[in-house]
Amino acid sequence: MIKEIKVKTALSPSQLPGLDYALNPYRGCAHACVYCYAPSVIHWDKGKWGELVEVKINLLRILSKELRVKKKGVVGLGTVTDPYQPAEKKYEITRRCLELLLMHDFPVCIQTKSSLVLRDIDLLKEFKNVEVGITLTALDDSVREKLEPGATSVKERLRALAELRQNGIRTWVFLGPVMPHITEVEALVDAIAEVKPEYVLVDRLRLKEGVRERVREFIQEFKPELLCDYEGIFRKGAEYYGEVLDSIINRCGKSGLRCEINRPGD
Ligand code: SF4
Repeated sequence: MIKEIKVKTALSPSQLPGLDYALNPYRGCAHACVYCYAPSVIHWDKGKWGELVEVKINLLRILSKELRVKKKGVVGLGTVTDPYQPAEKKYEITRRCLELLLMHDFPVCIQTKSSLVLRDIDLLKEFKNVEVGITLTALDDSVREKLEPGATSVKERLRALAELRQNGIRTWVFLGPVMPHITEVEALVDAIAEVKPEYVLVDRLRLKEGVRERVREFIQEFKPELLCDYEGIFRKGAEYYGEVLDSIINRCGKSGLRCEINRPGD
Protein backbone atom coordinates (compact mmCIF):
# COMPACT_ATOMS: atom_id res chain seq x y z
CA MET A 1 0.00 0.00 0.00
CA ILE A 2 1.21 3.50 -0.82
CA LYS A 3 0.43 6.60 1.22
CA GLU A 4 1.50 10.12 0.41
CA ILE A 5 2.82 12.11 3.37
CA LYS A 6 4.34 15.52 4.02
CA VAL A 7 7.55 16.01 5.96
CA LYS A 8 9.21 18.96 7.67
CA THR A 9 12.86 18.09 7.04
CA ALA A 10 14.81 16.44 4.23
CA LEU A 11 18.47 16.08 5.24
CA SER A 12 19.29 14.66 8.64
CA PRO A 13 22.76 14.32 10.19
CA SER A 14 24.23 10.86 9.65
CA GLN A 15 26.48 8.85 11.96
CA LEU A 16 27.28 6.33 9.21
CA PRO A 17 30.95 6.22 8.13
CA GLY A 18 31.70 8.55 5.24
CA LEU A 19 28.30 10.27 5.30
CA ASP A 20 27.40 13.73 6.57
CA TYR A 21 23.69 13.61 5.82
CA ALA A 22 21.00 10.99 5.30
CA LEU A 23 18.25 11.54 2.74
CA ASN A 24 15.36 9.09 2.51
CA PRO A 25 12.69 9.80 -0.12
CA TYR A 26 10.36 7.15 1.30
CA ARG A 27 9.37 5.90 4.73
CA GLY A 28 9.04 2.13 4.76
CA CYS A 29 10.41 -0.18 2.10
CA ALA A 30 8.63 -2.60 -0.22
CA HIS A 31 11.77 -4.70 -0.55
CA ALA A 32 10.78 -6.17 2.83
CA CYS A 33 14.14 -7.76 3.62
CA VAL A 34 13.95 -10.29 6.45
CA TYR A 35 17.04 -8.89 8.19
CA CYS A 36 16.17 -5.19 7.80
CA TYR A 37 16.74 -3.19 10.97
CA ALA A 38 15.38 0.10 9.61
CA PRO A 39 12.04 -0.41 11.43
CA SER A 40 13.77 -0.16 14.79
CA VAL A 41 15.81 2.86 13.67
CA ILE A 42 12.77 4.85 12.51
CA HIS A 43 10.46 3.46 15.21
CA TRP A 44 8.07 1.99 12.65
CA ASP A 45 4.69 1.31 14.23
CA LYS A 46 2.54 0.99 11.12
CA GLY A 47 2.24 -2.76 10.74
CA LYS A 48 4.32 -5.36 8.96
CA TRP A 49 7.50 -3.93 7.39
CA GLY A 50 7.16 -3.91 3.61
CA GLU A 51 3.38 -3.63 3.39
CA LEU A 52 3.13 0.15 3.61
CA VAL A 53 5.36 2.69 1.90
CA GLU A 54 4.98 6.37 2.68
CA VAL A 55 5.97 8.70 -0.13
CA LYS A 56 7.37 12.07 0.95
CA ILE A 57 5.58 14.13 -1.66
CA ASN A 58 6.81 17.56 -0.50
CA LEU A 59 10.43 16.44 -0.04
CA LEU A 60 11.78 18.31 -3.05
CA ARG A 61 10.52 21.69 -1.88
CA ILE A 62 12.10 21.16 1.56
CA LEU A 63 15.35 19.78 0.14
CA SER A 64 15.67 22.68 -2.24
CA LYS A 65 15.46 25.14 0.69
CA GLU A 66 17.88 23.15 2.85
CA LEU A 67 20.50 22.82 0.10
CA ARG A 68 20.71 26.59 -0.13
CA VAL A 69 21.77 26.94 3.51
CA LYS A 70 23.38 23.66 4.63
CA LYS A 71 27.14 23.19 4.70
CA LYS A 72 28.27 21.02 1.82
CA GLY A 73 28.72 17.36 2.79
CA VAL A 74 28.25 13.80 1.54
CA VAL A 75 24.59 12.83 1.26
CA GLY A 76 23.71 9.18 1.81
CA LEU A 77 20.70 8.53 -0.39
CA GLY A 78 18.75 5.64 1.13
CA THR A 79 19.96 4.87 4.64
CA VAL A 80 16.68 3.52 6.09
CA THR A 81 14.76 2.88 2.88
CA ASP A 82 15.65 1.85 -0.66
CA PRO A 83 15.64 4.95 -2.89
CA TYR A 84 14.95 2.79 -5.96
CA GLN A 85 12.16 0.62 -4.59
CA PRO A 86 9.12 0.07 -6.88
CA ALA A 87 7.31 3.32 -5.88
CA GLU A 88 10.20 5.28 -7.38
CA LYS A 89 9.17 4.18 -10.89
CA LYS A 90 6.04 6.25 -10.56
CA TYR A 91 7.05 9.06 -8.17
CA GLU A 92 10.63 9.73 -9.33
CA ILE A 93 11.43 11.49 -6.05
CA THR A 94 14.94 10.03 -5.90
CA ARG A 95 15.59 11.25 -9.43
CA ARG A 96 14.37 14.77 -8.60
CA CYS A 97 16.49 14.77 -5.41
CA LEU A 98 19.53 13.88 -7.53
CA GLU A 99 18.76 16.80 -9.85
CA LEU A 100 18.76 19.18 -6.88
CA LEU A 101 21.89 17.68 -5.33
CA LEU A 102 23.66 17.99 -8.67
CA MET A 103 22.57 21.60 -9.06
CA HIS A 104 24.06 22.39 -5.62
CA ASP A 105 27.13 20.22 -6.20
CA PHE A 106 26.67 17.97 -3.14
CA PRO A 107 28.60 14.66 -3.14
CA VAL A 108 26.25 11.65 -3.08
CA CYS A 109 26.50 8.04 -1.98
CA ILE A 110 23.59 5.82 -3.05
CA GLN A 111 22.83 2.40 -1.64
CA THR A 112 20.24 0.19 -3.31
CA LYS A 113 19.11 -3.33 -4.18
CA SER A 114 17.45 -2.30 -7.41
CA SER A 115 18.56 -2.06 -11.01
CA LEU A 116 16.17 0.89 -11.40
CA VAL A 117 19.23 3.00 -10.55
CA LEU A 118 20.26 2.45 -14.19
CA ARG A 119 17.43 4.78 -15.24
CA ASP A 120 19.39 7.68 -13.71
CA ILE A 121 22.76 7.02 -15.32
CA ASP A 122 22.41 10.20 -17.35
CA LEU A 123 22.27 12.25 -14.14
CA LEU A 124 24.88 10.25 -12.24
CA LYS A 125 27.38 10.85 -15.03
CA GLU A 126 27.07 14.60 -14.44
CA PHE A 127 28.20 14.46 -10.79
CA LYS A 128 31.76 15.31 -9.79
CA ASN A 129 31.48 13.04 -6.78
CA VAL A 130 29.00 10.17 -6.71
CA GLU A 131 29.15 6.49 -5.91
CA VAL A 132 26.59 3.71 -6.08
CA GLY A 133 26.61 0.77 -3.69
CA ILE A 134 24.59 -2.33 -4.45
CA THR A 135 23.84 -4.88 -1.76
CA LEU A 136 24.34 -8.60 -2.27
CA THR A 137 23.57 -11.08 0.48
CA ALA A 138 23.18 -14.40 -1.34
CA LEU A 139 23.99 -15.59 -4.84
CA ASP A 140 21.19 -18.14 -5.19
CA ASP A 141 18.17 -16.21 -6.41
CA SER A 142 15.69 -18.67 -4.88
CA VAL A 143 17.17 -17.78 -1.48
CA ARG A 144 17.26 -14.08 -2.38
CA GLU A 145 13.53 -14.24 -3.20
CA LYS A 146 12.79 -15.33 0.34
CA LEU A 147 15.27 -13.01 2.02
CA GLU A 148 14.61 -9.85 0.01
CA PRO A 149 11.25 -10.58 -1.64
CA GLY A 150 10.60 -7.14 -3.14
CA ALA A 151 14.11 -6.44 -4.44
CA THR A 152 15.70 -6.97 -7.84
CA SER A 153 17.19 -10.38 -8.72
CA VAL A 154 20.88 -11.10 -8.10
CA LYS A 155 21.52 -11.23 -11.85
CA GLU A 156 19.97 -7.79 -12.35
CA ARG A 157 22.05 -6.31 -9.54
CA LEU A 158 25.27 -7.69 -11.00
CA ARG A 159 24.22 -6.33 -14.39
CA ALA A 160 23.57 -2.93 -12.82
CA LEU A 161 27.04 -2.90 -11.23
CA ALA A 162 28.66 -3.74 -14.56
CA GLU A 163 26.67 -1.14 -16.47
CA LEU A 164 27.31 1.63 -13.96
CA ARG A 165 31.01 0.92 -14.10
CA GLN A 166 30.99 0.90 -17.90
CA ASN A 167 29.51 4.38 -17.67
CA GLY A 168 32.35 5.62 -15.49
CA ILE A 169 30.40 5.64 -12.23
CA ARG A 170 32.18 4.57 -9.06
CA THR A 171 30.60 1.40 -7.66
CA TRP A 172 30.94 -0.67 -4.51
CA VAL A 173 29.21 -3.70 -3.08
CA PHE A 174 27.67 -4.00 0.34
CA LEU A 175 28.21 -7.68 1.10
CA GLY A 176 25.85 -8.21 3.94
CA PRO A 177 24.52 -9.10 6.21
CA VAL A 178 26.75 -12.16 6.08
CA MET A 179 24.50 -15.10 6.99
CA PRO A 180 26.40 -18.31 7.77
CA HIS A 181 25.39 -21.29 5.55
CA ILE A 182 23.20 -18.95 3.47
CA THR A 183 25.65 -16.39 2.08
CA GLU A 184 27.80 -18.47 -0.30
CA VAL A 185 30.88 -16.43 0.56
CA GLU A 186 33.37 -17.77 -1.99
CA ALA A 187 31.02 -18.00 -4.98
CA LEU A 188 29.50 -14.62 -4.19
CA VAL A 189 32.88 -12.92 -3.91
CA ASP A 190 33.91 -14.48 -7.25
CA ALA A 191 30.71 -13.21 -8.93
CA ILE A 192 31.29 -9.73 -7.49
CA ALA A 193 34.92 -9.71 -8.69
CA GLU A 194 33.69 -10.17 -12.27
CA VAL A 195 31.86 -6.83 -12.23
CA LYS A 196 34.87 -5.02 -10.72
CA PRO A 197 33.51 -2.69 -8.04
CA GLU A 198 36.02 -0.36 -6.39
CA TYR A 199 35.61 -2.14 -3.09
CA VAL A 200 33.42 -4.47 -1.05
CA LEU A 201 32.07 -3.45 2.34
CA VAL A 202 31.31 -6.46 4.52
CA ASP A 203 28.77 -6.31 7.31
CA ARG A 204 27.16 -8.63 9.82
CA LEU A 205 23.61 -9.34 10.93
CA ARG A 206 22.44 -6.51 13.13
CA LEU A 207 20.23 -8.23 15.62
CA LYS A 208 18.23 -5.20 16.63
CA GLU A 209 14.67 -5.29 17.88
CA GLY A 210 12.49 -7.55 15.74
CA VAL A 211 15.31 -8.80 13.49
CA ARG A 212 16.07 -11.92 15.51
CA GLU A 213 12.41 -12.96 15.34
CA ARG A 214 12.13 -12.37 11.60
CA VAL A 215 15.37 -14.24 10.86
CA ARG A 216 14.23 -17.11 13.10
CA GLU A 217 10.90 -17.35 11.20
CA PHE A 218 12.76 -17.31 7.89
CA ILE A 219 15.09 -20.11 9.00
CA GLN A 220 12.22 -22.14 10.44
CA GLU A 221 10.30 -21.90 7.20
CA PHE A 222 13.00 -22.21 4.54
CA LYS A 223 16.10 -23.72 6.17
CA PRO A 224 14.89 -25.59 9.28
CA GLU A 225 18.04 -27.70 9.27
CA LEU A 226 19.96 -24.51 10.21
CA LEU A 227 17.80 -23.60 13.17
CA CYS A 228 20.18 -25.00 15.75
CA ASP A 229 23.16 -23.14 14.25
CA TYR A 230 21.19 -19.93 14.14
CA GLU A 231 20.11 -20.19 17.76
CA GLY A 232 23.87 -20.34 18.49
CA ILE A 233 24.44 -17.25 16.35
CA PHE A 234 21.68 -15.38 18.20
CA ARG A 235 23.35 -16.27 21.48
CA LYS A 236 26.81 -15.23 20.29
CA GLY A 237 25.62 -11.95 18.73
CA ALA A 238 28.30 -10.09 16.77
CA GLU A 239 30.89 -12.69 17.77
CA TYR A 240 29.64 -15.13 15.11
CA TYR A 241 30.85 -12.80 12.44
CA GLY A 242 34.51 -12.85 13.48
CA GLU A 243 34.47 -16.54 12.63
CA VAL A 244 33.46 -16.03 8.98
CA LEU A 245 35.49 -12.91 8.26
CA ASP A 246 38.75 -14.71 7.50
CA SER A 247 37.23 -16.66 4.62
CA ILE A 248 35.80 -13.46 3.13
CA ILE A 249 39.06 -11.55 3.48
CA ASN A 250 41.01 -14.44 1.91
CA ARG A 251 38.64 -14.82 -1.00
CA CYS A 252 38.58 -11.09 -1.69
CA GLY A 253 42.40 -11.13 -1.64
CA LYS A 254 42.48 -13.96 -4.17
CA SER A 255 39.95 -12.22 -6.39
CA GLY A 256 41.80 -8.91 -6.28
CA LEU A 257 38.95 -7.13 -4.51
CA ARG A 258 39.59 -4.40 -1.96
CA CYS A 259 37.68 -5.39 1.13
CA GLU A 260 36.52 -3.12 3.95
CA ILE A 261 35.09 -4.62 7.09
CA ASN A 262 32.50 -3.33 9.51
CA ARG A 263 34.08 -4.84 12.62
CA PRO A 264 31.95 -6.36 15.40
CA GLY A 265 32.40 -3.29 17.56
CA ASP A 266 31.39 -0.82 14.79
S1 SF4 B 1 16.22 -2.63 0.91
FE1 SF4 B 1 17.20 -1.85 2.76
S2 SF4 B 1 15.65 -0.56 3.72
FE2 SF4 B 1 14.60 -1.83 2.24
S3 SF4 B 1 13.85 -3.57 3.41
FE3 SF4 B 1 15.84 -4.12 2.52
S4 SF4 B 1 17.36 -3.65 4.08
FE4 SF4 B 1 15.46 -2.56 4.63
